[in-house]
Formats: sequence, C-alpha cells, structure tokens
Amino acid sequence: MVLEIVVMVKQVPDSQEVVIDPVTMNLNRSMTRNVTNRADENALEAALQIKDKTPANITVVSMGPPQAESTMIECLARGADRAILVSDRALGGADTYPTGLTVASAISKLDHFDIIFAGEESSDSSTGHVGPGVAEFLGIDQITYCSKIQYEDGYVTAERELEDGTEVVKCPTPVLVTVLLNSNYPRRQTLRRKIDAVRKGMEVWNIEKLELKPEWVGVRGSPTIVRRMQSIKEKQREGKKVTLEQIPDLVKELYEKKIIREVH
Ligand SMILES: Cc1cc2nc3c(=O)[nH]c(=O)nc-3n(C[C@H](O)[C@H](O)[C@H](O)COP(=O)(O)OP(=O)(O)OC[C@H]3O[C@@H](n4cnc5c(N)ncnc54)[C@H](O)[C@@H]3O)c2cc1C
Repeated sequence: MVLEIVVMVKQVPDSQEVVIDPVTMNLNRSMTRNVTNRADENALEAALQIKDKTPANITVVSMGPPQAESTMIECLARGADRAILVSDRALGGADTYPTGLTVASAISKLDHFDIIFAGEESSDSSTGHVGPGVAEFLGIDQITYCSKIQYEDGYVTAERELEDGTEVVKCPTPVLVTVLLNSNYPRRQTLRRKIDAVRKGMEVWNIEKLELKPEWVGVRGSPTIVRRMQSIKEKQREGKKVTLEQIPDLVKELYEKKIIREVH
C-alpha cells in the first residue's frame, strides 16, 4: 500500500525583509521577498522522513497568489511528488475560516489521503487556526504541536509539546498533524531535483474546480473584519553600566522592583 500524504504550505513575506508603506501602514508586497513558511519546511521534512521508510506519495497544497509558484517548485525540489496551488481572485482577503475551507476542499478533491501535515503556525498572521480548521472541515482527528512523528501500520505516533511537558499520542489515519517549528532539519534541494521540479511544474486549481461559491471564500466568506490598524511605538530599553562591585546592589534593586525573581 502506498501512503498518501498531504503537506499544507503557505508562502509568507521574509520576516527579515518586511517593508511597511509609511503612508498606508500596509505591507509593501512588491518590495518584500517571499519565502516558504519555515514551520511548513519542517512539516514537509516530517512527511519526507516517513517516505524514507514507507512507500508514499507527497502532495503539497497551498492557497495563494500566482507568485506562490516558487514555494511549490521548492517543495517539489525537496522531494514532494505533486504540487497544487489553489489560486483565484475570489480568494483574496480571506481570514482563517475561508482559508481552512478552501484548503480542505482542495484536499477532499484528492482520490485519497492518510496523513495531512501543516506547520504549527505561519510567520506572518501566526494564528495557528488553519491546520485545525482543515481537520474540522474534513471531519478527521488532529494532533497539534508535534515533533518526533512516526508512522507504522496505519497509526501515527507523535510527541506533543504542552505548556508543562510533553505527551505521546498515537492516532489511526486519516489524521492531521501540525508540526513544530525547528522540530527537524529540512533537507536541501538538489540541483537534479530542482531541474525536475521546474520541468514537472505545479497544478493550479480555481474555486470552480473545488465547487466553492465566491461568497463562501475570500473576503466575502470571512467573518472577521479589520476595523483599525495601529502602529505601536517601540518602548526604548533602559541601559545601565555597572561595575562588578555594584552587581549585588543591582540584583537587589531588580528583585525589589519584581523584574527578577528567585528560582528554587
Ligand atoms: C482578522 C483577520 C483578518 C485578515 N484579513 C486579511 C486580509 O484582508 N487579507 C489577507 O491577505 N489576509 C488577511 N488575513 C490573513 C489571513 O487570514 C491568513 O494569512 C490566512 O488565513 C492564514 O492564516 P495564518 O497565516 O494565521 O496561518 P496559520 O493558521 O498560522 O498557519 C498554520 C499552518 O496552516 C497552513 N496554512 C496556512 N495558510 C495556508 C494557505 N494559504 N495555504 C495552505 N496552507 C496554509 C500552513 O501549514 C501553516 O503553517 C487576516 C487574518 C485575520 C486573523
């Protein structure tokens, strides 16, 4: 049996190079380099590690504008077998609800799926909604905030990060797994694979293919409304130079101001 794995990927602005329009306060996308969301690279690597041990097909699915092609080609060059970009003017301005609906609809059009991987969250909007939302739309189980993901005999086992520790969860497929940022080392693209990826290319699907109505998706299908944007003035950090002899007094002062506390 060949395992069918789907990896959800999002193209995001490179957080090192974000350019904000000083007048509109919006992100200037034409001046900003786009990259693959880093947690999604970890999600793809988790899928590839399963494929290293078990026969599997990996399909990457993204909703985004045409420029997301570079991310899709990159995923193919890292080892994915198929890339589907859902792109349609009607999808613009989507909040996380129609994004989840659209990605879930694309996945449900595939013949079969066993495991769906998503990143824990994106580096731009960072809600962490979309993975769990897709699992809900598809009516399947989910394991969130995972590392050390294994597949064996129809079950996925993963370590979940909790606030006060970790837990190991075992779940039958089909299951959606959200993968922690930096939980593995994504493999590099090879030149051979890059050439093959460009030759192979991606598939582009529109909302008609997904049987979605324009009013269900994009800005029209988004229940949230951004009423106001506000820029926040960064608080200046206080700097203070002290000699070695002054350190005990400084520690006492910081302790009294409750800036530091005793740890047992
Ligand atoms: C209130 C609100 C209003 C917004 N308004 C707008 C707007 O007007 N215009 C606009 O462009 N954006 C808008 N956004 C941003 C947009 O909703 C998100 O970029 C998008 O829904 C994905 O959510 P996220 O980035 O938080 O992803 P997360 O939920 O943090 O992502 C988790 C994982 O889900 C997967 N994933 C996320 N997005 C995609 C995708 N597109 N395709 C495939 N997989 C994906 C990835 O694996 C990712 O690692 C808005 C967001 C909010 C919260």
